[in-house]
Amino acid sequence: MLQPSNLCIMELPFAESYKIKMVEPIRKSSREERETWIRDAGYNLFRLKSDQVFIDLLTDSGTGAMSDKQWSEMMLGDESYAGASSYYKMKNAISEVLGFDHFLPTHQGRAAENVLFSVLIKEGDIIPGNTHFDTTKGHIEFRKAVPVDCTIDEAFDTTLSHPFKGNLDPLKLENILKSHSDKIPFIIVTVTCNSSGGQPVSIENLKMVRQLADKYGKIVIFDSARFAENAYFIKLREDGFKDKSIRYIVREMFSCADVMTMSAKKDAIVNMGGFIAMRSKELHAKASMFNIMFEGYITYGGMSGRDMNALAQGLYEGTEFEYLETRIRQVGYLGQRLMDFGIPVQQPIGGHAVFVDAKRFLPNLAKEEFQAQTLAVELYLEAGIRGVEIGALLADRDPVSRENRYPVLELMRLAIPRRVYTYNHMDVVAVALKNIYDRRDTIRKGLKIVDEAPIMRHFTVALDLA
Ligand SMILES: *Cc1c(COP(=O)(O)O)cnc(C)c1O
Repeated sequence: MLQPSNLCIMELPFAESYKIKMVEPIRKSSREERETWIRDAGYNLFRLKSDQVFIDLLTDSGTGAMSDKQWSEMMLGDESYAGASSYYKMKNAISEVLGFDHFLPTHQGRAAENVLFSVLIKEGDIIPGNTHFDTTKGHIEFRKAVPVDCTIDEAFDTTLSHPFKGNLDPLKLENILKSHSDKIPFIIVTVTCNSSGGQPVSIENLKMVRQLADKYGKIVIFDSARFAENAYFIKLREDGFKDKSIRYIVREMFSCADVMTMSAKKDAIVNMGGFIAMRSKELHAKASMFNIMFEGYITYGGMSGRDMNALAQGLYEGTEFEYLETRIRQVGYLGQRLMDFGIPVQQPIGGHAVFVDAKRFLPNLAKEEFQAQTLAVELYLEAGIRGVEIGALLADRDPVSRENRYPVLELMRLAIPRRVYTYNHMDVVAVALKNIYDRRDTIRKGLKIVDEAPIMRHFTVALDLA
């Protein structure tokens, strides 16, 4: 028998906190097929059919796999028009997990924005925050108001490592509050900050925002799609939270907010759904009118009972540490593989996605030729993988001058759906991108716009080879 001193005890590797009960086949295609399909789609990945895609990293929104418990909850849905038990299940979950007493269901996150902003925003208003999400920005600009980005400068340098790149800069925020206080109805904080790379905001920073809001008498709204992923990063990175539970940190975060909008398609792990939650009964009453007009009666707001049940269950599952660890480590694994290949990515790796820096990946291309979109098309052609552009197409034109806006960062986002793909899928993505990286000098032409919509053009834009 071996003596203990001869044993080499290996640390057990990390493994997912769930096993798979149901599968959905996916299909590979040939490069020739993909060349035809992407041309027919106007070089816009949104316009592809899903069965033309092998690994779909277009978004983590509504693409997650529900658990057995969530599916069971679907069967218990109460489809009563008014006062359904499913509404009360959702109300309890929101109260327990997030700490808000009042809420309105909506069919998704942007619907929550539409309802809430109908109450709070008027023409000429200014809305400071960290980088506003595209639908949030759309709903602000549609009302002829102006979003002002107060994110810290560090967020715009992809090479710089900073634990909380979603943070707001106190000086930028106070300057705008000081100079335009009468035009500012609220401050909006996106947790995690999607547009700057799924980057978290610290509790310290949220408290700073709260203090400034109180000083100037402003409401604080959290755009909360990935609040649980934000809490996970706080636990890992912020002093004083290592031993706190995710639920505790979530409550601590939301103690700094008056109102939250939620796209439940992210951290509540459902395929459709959203809500607005608030402390003020008065705001609830005002928003109810718009909810009834745009979404549905206040106890269902565009959701069926079964969907409200699944959402309630998802709020509990989405705030479990083991689940979050599984999820965020998988995203981190893909990011690490890309970094090992020398591929330029936004660092540190965010919660829901890896963001490839297309300006540094394709330095030979001019920004007018849409570097990030070109890279996304290349990746699709290489292996049938669908990422998404977060760059000049998404940034759209200036609403007044109609000139193209070129953001500081041209990113290609690879968003990882929750509980859907395996580590092998991540390996395919990493190797496909490495192959493109190795021949990057041969990519000398980008894309040009052929046809575009007047607002949020990226969804439908048609492009051609430049
Ligand atoms: C997805 C998202 C939204 C919009 O939600 P939808 O459910 O897609 O309408 C708003 N804000 C953030 C930060 C998001 O990620």
